[in-house]
Amino acid sequence: MTNKPPEYCPHCGGELAAVDPPTVHRCEDCEEFAFYNPTPAARVAVVDGDELLLCEVGVPGVADTWETPGGRLEADEDPPVAAARELREETGLTVDPGALELFDARSYESVPDQYTTRLCYAVDRAATGGQLQAGAEPDGVRFWSAAAFADSGMALSDRQPAATRDLSWWLEGARATLDEA
Ligand SMILES: [Zn+2]
Repeated sequence: MTNKPPEYCPHCGGELAAVDPPTVHRCEDCEEFAFYNPTPAARVAVVDGDELLLCEVGVPGVADTWETPGGRLEADEDPPVAAARELREETGLTVDPGALELFDARSYESVPDQYTTRLCYAVDRAATGGQLQAGAEPDGVRFWSAAAFADSGMALSDRQPAATRDLSWWLEGARATLDEA
């Protein structure tokens, strides 16, 4: 399916009627159903002591916006494999997908009319390899403590759930899960 609620029938191009919006739609011509489901995404909290790895994201008109490495799953990709791939592409760090520990999963409206199901994984920096270096997409990558991040006036991206737009949330959740593992 697409990542937006469908406007036309994917089978015949006919008009869709909302049956159970925003998820279930039905074609008025061929009577096939069309579903809009959230897009799965995976993110990684790489923890080094009291610091978290963040990527600076180029949001037009908004400077100093950061988020954890991650992105959408490809069609045939397992979530931990996607998380490891995004980490490598964005930050240069490598990790065995089997070393990633799931610590949060939730669905939310990431931008109006677009829903994401986000899986968050934790890993200690000591379990990663490679060389820390920003990939093609981020403007920069670095580890931040919650205090240094707050003092800097930087912000986490508003494309993430509001309740998790806080460095301490990431650090505490990831650390608690790693301590149990
Ligand atoms: Zn149709």
